[in-house]
Formats: sequence, C-alpha cells, structure tokens
Amino acid sequence: MTYRDDVEGLDASILMHPRVWEASGHVENFTDPMIDCKQCKARFRLDTLTETISEKNKEKFLKEFDPAINTKEISLEDKINELLEDQNQSEKFLSVINCPQCGNKGTFTQPRKFNLMFKTFLGPVDDSANVIYLRPETAQGIFVNFLNVANSSRQKVPFGIAQIGKAFRNEINTKNFLFRTREFEQMEMQYFCKPGTDTEFYEEWKERRIEWFKSLGMTPSKLRFHDHPKEKLAHYAKNATDIEYEFPFGWGEIEGIHNRTDFDLSRHQQFSGKSQLYFDDESKEKYIPFIIETSAGASRSFMAFLIDSYYEEEVNGELRSVLRFHPKLAPIKAAILPLVNKDGMPEIARKIEADLRPFLRIFYDDKGAIGRRYRRMDEAGTPFCITVDTQTTQDETVTVRERDSMEQIRVKIDQLLNYLTGKLR
Ligand code: ATP
Repeated sequence: MTYRDDVEGLDASILMHPRVWEASGHVENFTDPMIDCKQCKARFRLDTLTETISEKNKEKFLKEFDPAINTKEISLEDKINELLEDQNQSEKFLSVINCPQCGNKGTFTQPRKFNLMFKTFLGPVDDSANVIYLRPETAQGIFVNFLNVANSSRQKVPFGIAQIGKAFRNEINTKNFLFRTREFEQMEMQYFCKPGTDTEFYEEWKERRIEWFKSLGMTPSKLRFHDHPKEKLAHYAKNATDIEYEFPFGWGEIEGIHNRTDFDLSRHQQFSGKSQLYFDDESKEKYIPFIIETSAGASRSFMAFLIDSYYEEEVNGELRSVLRFHPKLAPIKAAILPLVNKDGMPEIARKIEADLRPFLRIFYDDKGAIGRRYRRMDEAGTPFCITVDTQTTQDETVTVRERDSMEQIRVKIDQLLNYLTGKLR
C-alpha cells in the first residue's frame, strides 16, 4: 500500500447495516449447497463431496448409478460433479453412495442452501428485525466508503482502496489447517476506474498480483491462474481469475481477481438511495466507476508461503529444518546470541539488541549450545544470527551467520544496522 500513491488504506466496520448485505447480494446468494447424513448427522458441502470419495469408489458408485457408463473414457471427478450439480440426477446419485463418515448408503438428505453469513443481533432484543451480520468479506466496507475516501484523500479515479482485516464465514466444513477456517484474515484492494478502461486494469492487476507472490519468493512453477469460464462467472463479474498455489493436497485458490463492473456501486446506490456518481474533473463527466478487485486471503496465503519455504536437509549427519522465508516475511529479522553468559558478552549483546530493536524485529536468546540456538532460528525462519564471542571483546566485531548458506562473516558492531538493512531489503 505504501509503495503506491494511488492506493489508500482503510479500516472499515465489521458490523455494517444489514441492507449492505442485501445490496451486495450476500443475503440472497452467499450460499453453499449442503447435505446431511440422516444416520450419523455429519454435514457435507455438496459441491466438494467428490474430494471425500476415493478413486476406487468413484468408479464403483458411477457404475452402480449407470452400468452403461464407460468409466475409462471420462474424468470420474468431473462426471460426479456434473451429476451432483444436476437437480434431476443428484438425488439418484446420492442414493448409491456411502456416507464418507459412517459408511452407510442412501442416508443423505436432499441438498439445501446454507447461507454462510454469521448472524447476530443489534441491541438487547433478539428479534428478527434486529439481525445483523459479521462481514463475510472486507470488500463491501470499501465500496460503501468509496466517496468518503475519494473526497477526504483527494484521490482521483483511477485509484484504489485497500484493507486488511478479519472476515467470517460459517463454512460447512473447515479443513486443511489455515486453508478453510470460519474466521480468517483477508487482504483486499478495490481499484476504481473509468468505464471502458476496466479490461486494461484487470489485465494489469492480474500480472501485478502473481508477480507479488513471486517477488516474495514463492516457487513460480507452483503458481498458476485459473480463469473462470464465462458461463461460471459470479453474478457481478465480467472477468474473473483465481491465483492458485499447488498445496500438498492439490491446487487451491489463494487470491481472486475480478472485474466487478459497476455492479457494486450501482447496487449500493439503489439500496441506500445515496448517489454513488463520481464527478471527473478532467472530462467533466459523471459516472459510476468500474471496480477491479484483488481479493486475497492473508491467512491462506501465509500458509502457502509457509509450505513453500519449509525444507529439511542433512547437515553434518543431523537433520536441519529450515524456513527459507523471504526476509520481508520473516517474523524475526535477526537473533542476538551471546556465546556464553559471562566475560562481558551479555552486556555487549544487550547493547546491540537495544540499538537494533527500534529498526528491526529482534530475538535475544542466551539459552543452550550455540548450534542449538542456530537451529531454533532456522526453524523460525530468521535470516540472520548475530553472535557475540571472545573476539568481539577484543575488536568490536560480531559473527553474522546467514540462514540459508550458513556462511559466517565478521561485521563491525557499528556497521551492523547498515549491513542488515541492506541485506534484508
Ligand atoms: P473458496 O472457493 O476457497 O471458498 P472463495 O472463492 O469463496 O474461496 P473469495 O470469496 O474470493 O473466496 O475470497 C477471497 C480469498 O479469501 C480467497 O482467495 C481465500 O484466499 C480467502 N478465503 C476465502 N474463504 C476462506 C476461508 N474459509 N478460510 C480462509 N481463507 C479464505
């Protein structure tokens, strides 16, 4: 955000007027199809049910559903998804499969729509008139504040508003650690542009966003776009793509990039009765801007970075686990380690710590053998370890050990900050 002068930051409310979620389409459309097992009461998302069925069973169930099906010539997963999506076929298909939890056959209920928004009540009375929602995405807080930000920041279209914050979704099944949780962190940016320039900005942001992941060290071959086919686009979108990462459990979305047209601002104008027209000083036109959205999960992306940077390797006959985080992502930038807790070393180490702490996230560790302390920092992904040793007390230099190469060099104490900030950049 601070790298660009055309993007402003925002921290909007988590609880907003319920009409916001009617305008956005969430009250009506933010649903997943779910089914329950009548026997064991387990609940599943219909559209991801295939993931719970083994390859062998996929074939078995399809044959049972239709003995004439040639399972060698089709993608079993696609065929099952097609059957589950088809209202006329899904009931029959569900009757031939076993519940993934209890193994009983034909125990599923009919699919039902389940709204993913968490509800709560405004004020002391639990009355349906007082229902409000925890935000299921940070985007709507940006849309409803578009004119506030435009007017107070003196930004002119094209410009963006970005927000990092919690989002809440009552997911039917949470899974895969941080990949799908009910409370998660989003980082979204909405770029407001003049109608007609939207396709150009959509393409530009697509490239910028995948480059962002690569620039922070994510393995390029584990990143790809998944463009949404026209017939599967969400109701608000003209174009949409997902940036996907290859997780150990398969490819999964980490960010969505959408051309949302003027859908959002038009709907908020309609539902609030407040004009969302933007006056363009230069062309003297009034229009509702189009919006290009980049919508990433901060927690889900963090998990991708975590997996991507984890390595195990053998060093001197011992296993070393190391997180090769890009320095910008490393939660601790440098560790200060006095070799021993005597001979003036702790005093020098504490002084170095105090000098560096205003500028860098530092960790002070004086517990255990130096080799073990290095390993602990490797596991935490700390790019540099600074060791105060006997030589320090003689020539005011310290050992700086680099995490990935494990190389050690000597640096003058008064040069340390320059040295580290240069490397961390
Ligand atoms: P999915 O298809 O995986 O449910 P989505 O298409 O609903 O995701 P968006 O609404 O586009 O996701 O949300 C933007 C981003 O927020 C996603 O790319 C993902 O990184 C993150 N995200 C969405 N749902 C969750 C969740 N339940 N837990 C963690 N992160 C999530």
